[in-house]
Amino acid sequence: MKSNPAVFWLRQDFRTLRNNALSYASNNHDYVSAIYIFKKKDFEKKREAQKWWIHESLKNFKTELDKLNINLEIINLDSYQNFFEKYSKNHVSFYWNKIYEPNFLSFDEKISKYLQEKNINFKIFKGNILNEYKEVTKKDNTPFKVFTPFWNTAEPIYLKKEFRKEIPLKKTVKKIKILDTSYKIEDVLPKEKWFQKFKNYWDPSEKKGLELLNNFVKIRIKDYGENRDIPGVEGTSKISPYLSHGQISVETAWEICEKVKNKSRGYRKYVNELGWREFSHSLINYFPNMLKGNLRKEFDKFPWVKNSKHLKAWKSGLTGYPIVDAGMRELYETGWMHNRLRMITGSFLVKHLRIHWMEGEKHFRNCLLDFNEANNVAGWQWIAGCGADAAPYFRIFNPILQGEKFDKEGNYVKKWIPELKNIPKEFIHKPWEMNDKVQINFKIKIGKDYPSPLVDHSKARQEALQAFSKIKK
Ligand SMILES: Cc1cc2nc3c(=O)[nH]c(=O)nc-3n(C[C@H](O)[C@H](O)[C@H](O)COP(=O)(O)OP(=O)(O)OC[C@H]3O[C@@H](n4cnc5c(N)ncnc54)[C@H](O)[C@@H]3O)c2cc1C
Repeated sequence: MKSNPAVFWLRQDFRTLRNNALSYASNNHDYVSAIYIFKKKDFEKKREAQKWWIHESLKNFKTELDKLNINLEIINLDSYQNFFEKYSKNHVSFYWNKIYEPNFLSFDEKISKYLQEKNINFKIFKGNILNEYKEVTKKDNTPFKVFTPFWNTAEPIYLKKEFRKEIPLKKTVKKIKILDTSYKIEDVLPKEKWFQKFKNYWDPSEKKGLELLNNFVKIRIKDYGENRDIPGVEGTSKISPYLSHGQISVETAWEICEKVKNKSRGYRKYVNELGWREFSHSLINYFPNMLKGNLRKEFDKFPWVKNSKHLKAWKSGLTGYPIVDAGMRELYETGWMHNRLRMITGSFLVKHLRIHWMEGEKHFRNCLLDFNEANNVAGWQWIAGCGADAAPYFRIFNPILQGEKFDKEGNYVKKWIPELKNIPKEFIHKPWEMNDKVQINFKIKIGKDYPSPLVDHSKARQEALQAFSKIKK
């Protein structure tokens, strides 16, 4: 046991279960401190909703760390290098888990060299992923761009690995304070009060994440194949923010799913979604330029439209298409949006309004509690048709038919758009078709109490196809 102190560098791993770096620190050092570096400028007006999640996570995780006798110290920094330089003087060892984003991985490489040169002890561990992305390639060692062959290769690689035994944390270590000043947890909170309603929907703790996952696997996974597309029912697991911030390790999710006896359609579909998460992480690391632009370069010529009025209406859930507006309002209210709605609202932005997918990506980044670079960028490029294995641009979701198919009774729309709560189901996805008499009957005036459609579906579809034909040439 080493008597020099260890720092567990807390990043996106607010968990005590399957936390490689924390476990290593606690088992190999007498003194351990957890340090969270809050890089304010990464969040300011970019990831506002996530400030709330991180704030709550810090509070909850502190309670868990206290039980282990580990201090949680927070610092607001813009340069990591100074940090290592300053604190290494006390012979501190540093441990952290990888984050699978190009910036983080190249930082690891750079800092590793620096720490080696300075003779500072450190170790970087596997992060929240099933396979290291470099483990999964085609036979000729090139990366996959299509999901099915990717997953057909990746899943057996993971299954062949012996399940890594959980290395429990040491019950208690000796408390130590490393930083000379510590930021207060409250300082992480956004200034705007918008986030306050999130607490009605979420409890950002490891315990809650595991509870959600266990309940889902026990009760709902069997029907996941059918229910995952119906936003009006609780058909999905809702563990995405817990995975993004690392309250749950994807290996734990996998292990819990493995216990399902009936590995039928629901189970298969669910583990495939965990596979899409792996695929997105592989894509952004093999093709880091997709974080800044189209993966398929022909889309660089696409005639996107700049229209701030349309963009604002989309963000505010006021496009006049109920299924689109319900999704956008769910996002703003809860910090989460159902996957089917991410596809419908995304498609509406890039195809009906022809606004650049990066505008949508930016808005989701700011509002989603589960935002992560890989899934968000890959999701948006999939919708826009410019990504890997993407939905072809010419396949344009009809927001009326999508509503009628996936929200038959209109329950989801009525939940998020109270103005429409009295509208009968035949009009719920096309309220503008109610004549004046019917509108009076249901005490609503379309165009006043709820907007008329921002664009006409058929016309917008034609225009989108025309625009697309320009880049096909
Ligand atoms: C435009 C767009 C943007 C998206 N942005 C994000 C994002 O920022 N963060 C994020 O975690 N997911 C994102 N997704 C993927 C997906 O919508 C969410 O992961 C899912 O809705 C989360 O809800 P859940 O946990 O109930 O999912 P479940 O259906 O229960 O699935 C379980 C887990 O599998 C993973 N998963 C599910 N669907 C996908 C998918 N299509 N791609 C990759 N992983 C998936 C997630 O980690 C999810 O938590 C995006 C999808 C689209 C179309």
